Amino acid sequence: MRDYYEVLGVSKSASEDEIKKAYRSLAKKYHPDMNPDDKEAEEKFKEVNQAYAVLSDPEKKARYDQFGPEAAEGGAGYGDFGGFGGGFGGIDLNDIFEGMFGGGFGGGFGGGSARRNGPQKGDDVAQRVTITFEEAAFGCKKDVRYTKSERCGECEGTGSAPGSKPKTCSKCGGRGQINVQQRTPLGVFQTTKTCDACGGKGQTIENPCKKCRGAGMTNVSKTLEVSIPAGIDDGQRISLRGMGHAGKNGGPAGDLYIAVHVKKHPVFTREDFDIYCEIPITFPEAALGGEIKVPTLEGDITYELPEGTQTGTTFTLRGKGIPYINGRGRGDLIFRVIVEVPRNMNEAQKDALRKFAEASGKTSKKDKFKNFFGKDKS
Ligand SMILES: [Zn+2]
Ligand SMILES: [Zn+2]
Repeated sequence: MRDYYEVLGVSKSASEDEIKKAYRSLAKKYHPDMNPDDKEAEEKFKEVNQAYAVLSDPEKKARYDQFGPEAAEGGAGYGDFGGFGGGFGGIDLNDIFEGMFGGGFGGGFGGGSARRNGPQKGDDVAQRVTITFEEAAFGCKKDVRYTKSERCGECEGTGSAPGSKPKTCSKCGGRGQINVQQRTPLGVFQTTKTCDACGGKGQTIENPCKKCRGAGMTNVSKTLEVSIPAGIDDGQRISLRGMGHAGKNGGPAGDLYIAVHVKKHPVFTREDFDIYCEIPITFPEAALGGEIKVPTLEGDITYELPEGTQTGTTFTLRGKGIPYINGRGRGDLIFRVIVEVPRNMNEAQKDALRKFAEASGKTSKKDKFKNFFGKDKS
């Protein structure tokens, strides 16, 4: 067996692009449609394809470089390329000639090499759930309702009414693909496209199931109890594998994605795992200090405020914030005190305040301005 790099005429250090370029020009040169009844060209064509299948796949290339052709093939021989008989099923002509005619062959070839009757993963489902601030902080369980497709129970996914069976498509003989000829400046090419009679399934349904109308799938409404972890934040997503739409042709189901929306809290705001709030205090509390009540996620606590606290001062309660979503510990609660100036005071209060002002040595507005400007303007 010849060395794959030699087959493509590139060096061992060739880039992905160089390998692709070399492959394209050789595949074009030896393509059987360009060389009718030329056994030698056909052999070369197979060789070129085999080399490219390995060297264009980073994993296989690495194994080939290290252990040689057997390791790279994994004993699969030509299996990777599909049949060489008539349809060249595994080779995408668009790939070979890409760019030559300004963007491939157009309509008829689209998806030509994709087998629609193979297993396909089902689509994902997205659902939104709204929880409270506290539920986000401490975790909760929520019933999430959503709609997804499931294999039809009536026909067991065949799409045919009970007692009847799908028939092998007569147009494609069950392959799901048909050969078509395409005229191009380089000659007539044979390629494959999805069978239009069966949509690529390889089978046609003559007596459709009444429940799913032949689709083999039905939409069902599901309710799922979802555990929402403590510490989750607004806008985060929970994914549940395999809970989405059913797969096709035996493929796995899609996933369910739950977008979490957290409601605003009347008192707290959140930043990562810390929570913040503002607490109004009175002037005497600020000036004299003493016990104040501070709200937390677990109820009010008392806090010893120091004497002479200024408005806007922040205090931190360690470990009173939101639990870390992946691990132990919690963020902090940070509260900011705002000194409120009393309104609508009664005479007794006003008297007391005037006495306070006198004791402070500032008796009138006029004196205050005098201090402020440094001289008496009157
Ligand atoms: Zn059905
Ligand atoms: Zn068909």
